[in-house]
Amino acid sequence: MDCIFCKIANKEIPSTIVYEDDEIIAFNDVNPEAPVHILVIPKKHISSLDAAMPEDEQLLGRILLTIQKIAREQGIAEAGYRVVNNCGELGGQTVHHMHFHLLGGREMLWPAG
Ligand code: 5GP
Ligand code: ZN
Repeated sequence: MDCIFCKIANKEIPSTIVYEDDEIIAFNDVNPEAPVHILVIPKKHISSLDAAMPEDEQLLGRILLTIQKIAREQGIAEAGYRVVNNCGELGGQTVHHMHFHLLGGREMLWPAG
């Protein structure tokens, strides 16, 4: 399968990895939108949040708690941060391997564009 994030998870494409365990990997976004912009993904290929299955329940929970941990490690937890999942075409998803953006280090605007 020609999936750029599977290749990053398999270390076939280089990235700056900030966290890794048996199921999850997190790396710096190549085109950061904030001083901290990290992508957190399952190593397993799930094409989008909409494609997640009931058996992914634990993995999804682990991803959110991992984001919490990374935010603390990055020193952005106290000031606050944003977690974004773009899902599908109208959601603005461009890479079809589910990922959560962790953004911090500046004030975030709302509503999203
Ligand atoms: P999406 O628009 O799908 O929510 O987010 C995809 C994100 O992946 C974008 O923020 C983009 O900058 C990032 N991205 C795309 N290709 C690569 C890559 O090869 N390496 C890294 N580190 N980030 C990537
Ligand atoms: Zn993939």
